[in-house]
Amino acid sequence: MSYIVEYPNACRSIAALSKPPWTKPLNWSLEMTKDGEEHIPFHLYIQSEFDLPGFSSQHSSFSGFSRLPVELQFRILTFCSGPTLYQLMRIPFHRNEAAKLFWEDPNAYYVISSRWFVDGGHPGFTLYDTSFMAHVQNVEIKYSRDFMMHLLLMRGTSPAPDYSRGLGREFWNIFRRRFPAAKKVVFNQTRTALLNYEREWGPVCPFLGKAVRTCPSDIDASVFIWMSKSAGTPRRIGNPVVNDFHGVFHRPIENGEWEGVISSRVEWKRIMMPPKDCQGPVGEWERWEYQDRKITRQIYGLSILSIEALDRYYFDKKDPMPFHCPFSGCEAYLRKPGQWTLHAAETHYQLLFKRRELDFLPDDLRKEFEERYKELNRQREEVIKHREQTIKAWVKGDSEKRGQIQREWVHQIDHDEKCYTGKKGVESILWYSFMQLMSWKRDMGEPLFTFHMEG
Ligand SMILES: [Zn+2]
Repeated sequence: MSYIVEYPNACRSIAALSKPPWTKPLNWSLEMTKDGEEHIPFHLYIQSEFDLPGFSSQHSSFSGFSRLPVELQFRILTFCSGPTLYQLMRIPFHRNEAAKLFWEDPNAYYVISSRWFVDGGHPGFTLYDTSFMAHVQNVEIKYSRDFMMHLLLMRGTSPAPDYSRGLGREFWNIFRRRFPAAKKVVFNQTRTALLNYEREWGPVCPFLGKAVRTCPSDIDASVFIWMSKSAGTPRRIGNPVVNDFHGVFHRPIENGEWEGVISSRVEWKRIMMPPKDCQGPVGEWERWEYQDRKITRQIYGLSILSIEALDRYYFDKKDPMPFHCPFSGCEAYLRKPGQWTLHAAETHYQLLFKRRELDFLPDDLRKEFEERYKELNRQREEVIKHREQTIKAWVKGDSEKRGQIQREWVHQIDHDEKCYTGKKGVESILWYSFMQLMSWKRDMGEPLFTFHMEG
């Protein structure tokens, strides 16, 4: 079981790490999801690789480039990275051309969850800025096991789930409203979404299959899945090998079948859209929610980064030092840069998912990681402190105080378009989730579920 569930995650995780020869410092800002994917916040993405020679953000030093013939300038733009194009969008002469290339960049996809569309695609159910979505052309829609279970619960499983009501026309209407400029959609189906159902369903979950088959003709939609190369044959016994997995894009063909195209390009950037700027009690609550999730992603990020850090500790220097695998009982001897990263994924991949597993690092490196964890813990304490204030006001407050909190929340949900949920404030899931969480805090001390929110 752990092989099936965790291993593609390990493959994805190491895809986020820099490979030798290392040209940049360790990415301490790395944010990883629990599915082992790197998600890059938009503000970090546009700062990441500003690479046009002779150009700085000071427009005065732009003269060399701007003296070139116009055709040549435009030609050069086609070689620029997304972050560089974004900077060039600030220069009036290049704004349109740079913007066109920036938004159609095939290496950058903006991530959103499928659940959000099924819940109506309302601004009140996302932590992201919905006005930003109007520009986005490449969208990656996350499709996970959690979401599949959500759909099964919604549709009913008895006597059988109603697949005909999968993600169909209704889904695309909502999608179009939010992403009017979208041209490419990749549904990222995590392998666990198919757990136990693969034999019955084939590679693509039927809910998702419906979405791709009913996709508007001007949108190029596919389903991306990390798959074992030996799928369909008995699984290997023993440790898996990184090269045993590959990314496959699935597109529908006739008779309900799927054509799988193995992709060599699986490392596109997954970018998180900017958070929405929402004020008031709802906005404040959501900001801490956003911060909390960011900290969680950074903690996953640190655990993955520690793999690269060890590789570089021994090999990213003038006199490389081959070393023995630090895990007791393991005989591996790492002779070349990058070898340890692969070895860690193949042999000790469970460590990729263990938070704060730092014992394998040399003392000085371990201390540096411990400091980073400590800082993230401090930030989390801050989040907890602020949330506790709200919780305390509710739990310790009398009915008048609770009534006041309710009036403020409901008023904002009813009047602030950034909190719109498609229902009246008092009937909205946004308020309902908050109230449930507060009631649980009052009765049990601890909440049993997370806040209902995409992002
Ligand atoms: Zn080892």
